[in-house]
Amino acid sequence: MNTEFDVIKKYFTFPALRDDVELAVGDDCAIVSVPENKKLLLTTDTLISGVHFPQNTPAKDIAYKAIMVNLSDLAAMGATPAWLSLAISLPEINEVWLTEFSTQFSALLSQYNISLVGGDTTKGHLSITIQAMGFCEQGNILRRDKAQPGDKVYVSGSIGDAAIGLHAIVNELADNALLPCIQRLNRPQARINFAAQLSTCSQCAIDISDGLVADLGHVLHASGCGAQIRLDDIPLSLAARYYFDTYCHQKTDWPILLTRGDDYELCFTVNEKNQSAVEALAKRYDLVISCIGEVTDSTELSFLSADGEVFDFEQNGFQHF
Ligand SMILES: [Mg+2]
Repeated sequence: MNTEFDVIKKYFTFPALRDDVELAVGDDCAIVSVPENKKLLLTTDTLISGVHFPQNTPAKDIAYKAIMVNLSDLAAMGATPAWLSLAISLPEINEVWLTEFSTQFSALLSQYNISLVGGDTTKGHLSITIQAMGFCEQGNILRRDKAQPGDKVYVSGSIGDAAIGLHAIVNELADNALLPCIQRLNRPQARINFAAQLSTCSQCAIDISDGLVADLGHVLHASGCGAQIRLDDIPLSLAARYYFDTYCHQKTDWPILLTRGDDYELCFTVNEKNQSAVEALAKRYDLVISCIGEVTDSTELSFLSADGEVFDFEQNGFQHF
């Protein structure tokens, strides 16, 4: 077990799952076929140890997150995943680590019917780069430049758990009630199945990877609109509420919830006439969605507190605009 080829053969050779892969591994390139009536959507993301995940993160969680953050980008545009390539840089050949990583990697590929079609291994600081490729029919692609004034703004799931999870790890808060937040940090859930149907009710979506403020900001900038968001309607998990009750004197820390990353939930906009349809769709996929505000014809993104006052992030300890 000391060459790149040994590592690929033992840990990164998985059963052939798809008949649109003519040649996966074993030549200079992979050969694949895109269905004639579909578009190919591609995305890539790198996770570096100590930057994108804490250094002591278990190998299986690193594998999970590395795949999911890429699938989340495909979901953000309504695409269904088909293929992945993986470039991994490893400080050493640790067979226990590789077994754990590879087992989780393979399980997710099977779950989503994705073929690994190529990659590269090198020696270096631990870093994982995945390119994910998926299909979508032309008319079903969701884009961030399609928000319209009057649209309702929705998010899936709950917001801010991963930021609290990271805070708990970094500050060594040994509190089992915060484990759901750490789970959200390590095991984000790309909303693939819901997103693949979302174009029936929405044209505009993004995934929340850098925090709601930044990512909704990208949508509004691309669409030339603004939005008013009601803080009280932003969905918090029970674990997040527990965190604020216990560690923040019952005061919700909006900057940590809305400006840190790693939610991997969807933010999307819906015309009023499609609201009941999108809520029915979410129910069908057992996904909680929340209407948190609406798109305006200004260019401002403002957050209103319960008393109708505009919440000022800068005055409340957020400096990163
Ligand atoms: Mg994204």
